[in-house]
Amino acid sequence: MGELEGRTALITGAARGFGRAMALLLAREGADIAIADVAAELPSERVKGMATAEDLDRTRSEIEALGRRAVAIRADVTKASDCERMARTAIEALGNIDILHANAGVFSFGKAWELTEDDWDTIMAVNLKGVWLTTRAVAPHMIERRYGKIVMTSSRDGLRTEPNYSHYNASKFGVIGYMKSLAIELGPYKINVNAVCPGQMTDRSAPPPPPGTSNPYWDMVVGKPNATYEEFDIASGRENLFEEGGQIDFSEVAEGVLWLVSDRSRTVTGLALPLDRGWIAKRGG
Ligand code: NAD
Repeated sequence: MGELEGRTALITGAARGFGRAMALLLAREGADIAIADVAAELPSERVKGMATAEDLDRTRSEIEALGRRAVAIRADVTKASDCERMARTAIEALGNIDILHANAGVFSFGKAWELTEDDWDTIMAVNLKGVWLTTRAVAPHMIERRYGKIVMTSSRDGLRTEPNYSHYNASKFGVIGYMKSLAIELGPYKINVNAVCPGQMTDRSAPPPPPGTSNPYWDMVVGKPNATYEEFDIASGRENLFEEGGQIDFSEVAEGVLWLVSDRSRTVTGLALPLDRGWIAKRGG
């Protein structure tokens, strides 16, 4: 018997990556799942590489293969009307929403003075406004039922900053501020509201990027130009207090969210929980 037998969840940014790992873990624990994703490029010049409709469909099939009900919803969390439709569709398909994981997020890289307005606006629109719109669409339903578990994906960068991510840092600090406000407002309705602050993570079972791929973030973490993915992976792991093993796997971080959305953490609300092998602790946080 899974921890979440009979429960229902809506997860945004769930076509791939951490959102997909969350959807599969919650499904394995017994929950029926609505996965939402923009599943198309955003109207941005520079923030590219979103999941595709095929990714969304594949994740839906993977949930169904675990024997759970699944509904896939194409929705852009920066749009209020999409978020309202997303909440309606999930409730119609699953009967209710017990668990809401506002996870969709994007990033771009550059010094504050090099960022474009497009970088700033897109990161803020998805990472901060998107979390507000997502929760705004679902909160009345949870209030009516006097039940709900809301988790927002912030980041280690929501607690301690990294260079070349000023807009991302600001958005993720903002998520924690918003989370604390919502926790106070939803407390009287017995709704838990928390945020998670993952460390650098990846799907360790996926093939690495092809040789010759370069990335300015890898160069920053490794400390030299043209760093390879393998060099980055090792250096990234060494940034953590538990240094071994390269980047953290999505599935390890997902376990922390599972705890937050289960009734085992009934007493926990208004918390920003680092899930980072001690990256924050190493920096005295
Ligand atoms: P990812 O890019 O693999 O997944 C993000 C998903 O969000 C994609 O499927 C994308 O299509 C979707 N998305 C983007 N904009 C959207 C929008 N407007 N509406 C709906 N869906 C949208 O990234 P990930 O690594 O899985 O990141 C998931 C979350 O975790 C993000 O909030 C990210 O900031 C956060 N995070 C990631 C890391 C990391 O190391 N990967 C670390 C800390 C925090």
